[in-house]
Amino acid sequence: MALIVQKFGGTSVADTEKILAASRKAVRAHQEGNQVVVVVSAMGKNTDLLIKLAAEIGEHPPAREMDMLLSTGEQVSVALMAMAIDSLGEQAVSLTGAQIGIRTDSTHTKARIISISTERIQQLLDEGNIVIAAGFQGIDEDYNITTLGRGGSDTTAVALAAVLGANVCEIYTDVDGVYTTDPRKLAEARRVSQISCDEMLELASLGAGVMHSRSIEFAKKFSVPIHVRSSFTDLPGTMIVAEPESPNMAVGGAAITMNEARITVLGVPDVPGASFEIFSRIAEQNISVDMIVQNVGDEGHADISFTVPRDELQPTLDAVASASQSLGALDVTHDENVAKVSAVGLGMAQQTGVADRMFRGLSEAGINIQMITTSEIKISVLVSRPEAQTALRVIHEVFSLHQEPTDRPTFPATVSPEPRDPVDVVARLQGVGMEELTIDQITLDESQARVSIHNVPDAPGVAAKVFEDVAAAGIFVDMIVQSYGRDGLADLSFTVPKPTLQNSQQVADKLTSDFQCGPVTSSPDVCKLSVSGIGLRSHTGVAIRMFRSLAAADINIEMVNTSEVRVNVVVDGSKGLLALKCLQTAFEDVLR
Ligand code: ADP
Ligand code: ASP
Ligand code: MG
Repeated sequence: MALIVQKFGGTSVADTEKILAASRKAVRAHQEGNQVVVVVSAMGKNTDLLIKLAAEIGEHPPAREMDMLLSTGEQVSVALMAMAIDSLGEQAVSLTGAQIGIRTDSTHTKARIISISTERIQQLLDEGNIVIAAGFQGIDEDYNITTLGRGGSDTTAVALAAVLGANVCEIYTDVDGVYTTDPRKLAEARRVSQISCDEMLELASLGAGVMHSRSIEFAKKFSVPIHVRSSFTDLPGTMIVAEPESPNMAVGGAAITMNEARITVLGVPDVPGASFEIFSRIAEQNISVDMIVQNVGDEGHADISFTVPRDELQPTLDAVASASQSLGALDVTHDENVAKVSAVGLGMAQQTGVADRMFRGLSEAGINIQMITTSEIKISVLVSRPEAQTALRVIHEVFSLHQEPTDRPTFPATVSPEPRDPVDVVARLQGVGMEELTIDQITLDESQARVSIHNVPDAPGVAAKVFEDVAAAGIFVDMIVQSYGRDGLADLSFTVPKPTLQNSQQVADKLTSDFQCGPVTSSPDVCKLSVSGIGLRSHTGVAIRMFRSLAAADINIEMVNTSEVRVNVVVDGSKGLLALKCLQTAFEDVLR
């Protein structure tokens, strides 16, 4: 007998009629011979209303009481859903997070799941019940109610699907699947029939609110197939599985994070440990940092820029102030009027000339790129907030995301016919929290060289021209970073395969005469160290651990990039093996 987890989001249970409609879907699946677990969110905008009520009482409500309050939203929906199913003549039992035994840590309002007991649910299912589980909530070891963070019901659903060994986790929502970008932000967005877990993970953390990003971490860790589909029709939606929609597309989706803030620490002494000093102070505040860019040291000093969510700007500035003082940095600047726009695609890891197309499109739209970072499967640019919407449209158009790929698979993609073995999941966890950081690989890549073009004009079209020329020379670029400009000038650094260094340098030299800028510097011998796993960005401590261990061994970091599944750093070529050993020791306890 197959087991299906169905999750209904807020709009899908916004009123009693919608609750009845949702319960009909559950009943139908049950009558078709499946065991069914339903996870529900709070009705409509109920969670927002509860937050508003708390705000009316005081500015800083105790986090524990906040969770006590927020969890009531889901408790209302599970009871109504169970009544609805009962009214349709089927047996149903509703359960809160605590009653299920969803154990979490004690980080109120953003708790992580440690373990889930399956006995009670399994027994109720075996007795013929449809089990209705409250999303978004759990209980800590002292029986305090916790919540998982906004949008967390997706995470409850996929986590339950993982531990129960469900065949599929169906996410019923107000859109009919995953789109190439948020259809509310761009009318041209296209529903995809299938998207890879890796792409969805990046998109979710870069602003695609359709899925809670931690739910995709579960899907990836425990191979849970997810089907995102409309609550209001019976049409198939989008499968989130291992493979992308098309193996040949460089870019599969785009996302926008409107509320970003940029911070730059100017004139940081370019010595090992500087990044560690800054980012460890921020991590202590549990703030996750993105787009870390350091310009390659100029006269012993570097500027370090990065972005944080806008509502975390003030605590970040406070943390940075103390770090910059102890480092003797010159100044700290910030900008709240920025947005991050990203293109994501598994295909870009194999193709040349992806970044330059994106940069050219932005330049033709007159958009200045303030910062660039890339990882294996994403390119993020920072632009001024008023230009972000146009930037998203441009990226969507440049990569023809509105067009269906001709080689897309026919729906449905792989849903395992047999229930997966939940025992395997439990065995793999063995005393480790379900959302615990998992590092599966630490690698050293000695095949690359670095090229930096200093003092390029911080104006539209420059990055486009640089990477067009590099691509035209047939050179495959791996990492790209563009620092935040100072006095109208920025630094552009990138890594290329060692044998193409001379060629790359010639291209760069020619560009400096075109742009009247320079100098060009390069390291013929750099090493890229990569720490890969799951939960790297949500566990703010990963980059810090890397910085700390490298600083302790007196190893300077030349470039950094981060993604959901990997953090890469570039260091001097002679330090590769030493750096690898340092990282292996630093992550010994989480390497699985
Ligand atoms: P639910 O309440 O069902 O959890 P959410 O509001 O959390 O629903 O998520 C659905 C919304 O996500 C959609 O209405 C859509 O505007 C937004 N969204 C953002 N990015 C995407 C995307 N790439 N594809 C589909 N929807 C997206
Ligand atoms: N009700 C919670 C929220 O609005 C959880 C969820 O809907 O996923 O964030
Ligand atoms: Mg949601």
